[in-house]
Amino acid sequence: MNALVYKSTGSWYVVKNENGEFFNARIKGKLKIDNITSTNPVAVGDIVDVDQEDTEDGDMVITNIHDRKNYITRQSPHNKHQHHIIASNLDQSLLFATLKDPKTSQGFIDRFLVASEAYHVPAIIVFNKSDLYKKKELDKFEELKFIYERNGYKVLSMSLAQHTGIDEVKDLLKNKTTLLSGHSGVGKSSFINIVFPELLLKTQNVSDWSGKGLHTTTFAEMFDLPISGKIIDTPGLREFALMDIEKNELSHYFPEMRALVNECRFNNCMHIDEPGCAVKQAVEEGKISADRYVSYVNILGTIDTKKW
Ligand code: GDP
Ligand code: ZN
Repeated sequence: MNALVYKSTGSWYVVKNENGEFFNARIKGKLKIDNITSTNPVAVGDIVDVDQEDTEDGDMVITNIHDRKNYITRQSPHNKHQHHIIASNLDQSLLFATLKDPKTSQGFIDRFLVASEAYHVPAIIVFNKSDLYKKKELDKFEELKFIYERNGYKVLSMSLAQHTGIDEVKDLLKNKTTLLSGHSGVGKSSFINIVFPELLLKTQNVSDWSGKGLHTTTFAEMFDLPISGKIIDTPGLREFALMDIEKNELSHYFPEMRALVNECRFNNCMHIDEPGCAVKQAVEEGKISADRYVSYVNILGTIDTKKW
């Protein structure tokens, strides 16, 4: 029977079967997994085959993982060459950001967008706390909205405090599986609490029931929305791993650069100080945002030359 994984702790799982019933599940034996080093082969969002035979406790046994449409990973805190798949089969990722209290850095937003591009997950950015924005922040919001929308990302503004812009965000979640992301303090839990109050209750119940200490780790969990659609929450996850990106591929994950790279004089141009670089020229002419280019250079500096 097919089932969908709603929660993964690395050693046991919560799955929902085709009849809509939830079960605990375990892995038995070896599973064929994607070609990455992972200590946690089954991820939230995976479609799996489950079997109830030969278990006395009523738990399901996961016997197979279906091919994934896409997946995102995080770096192991102990070994940067090891990655854990945290969620799969996503329709989109939504980053909650703020321009005040706290200010989400543009570098962080750009890393999130690069990861979303690399994992083939369409990205949405929601700027919350718009009630706190003065002229400076409002101008910044307009500037970022222009830059990011031009690159194909949805950008919204919301205030949970003043109840503005919430329905637009809610509409985007309908009938989709959406990964929620964002630094702590941006209002992610307030959003869930206000828009889907029944879910927050469930979050607390599940953590109580699943035992101690889980809230300090980064296990993703999926929730069915009452409006149909699913959200995946990743408590404590700071950022996705930019796995498998080679230095000379990075510009492909910046849509405004991707369109230009064939025009550089050298086909292995990294767009740093090479002559005849179409990307640098576009930055100088203001066609590519200087801040986006700074993010590009910064991310480039964090990529190992060696392939993961
Ligand atoms: P999380 O860490 O992303 O889950 O953030 P929380 O939901 O815990 O929110 C952090 C703080 O920001 C809380 O004190 C919220 O009351 C506050 N907050 C959330 N949304 C808004 C908003 O739209 N405007 C203002 N002024 N404060 C907000
Ligand atoms: Zn170039």
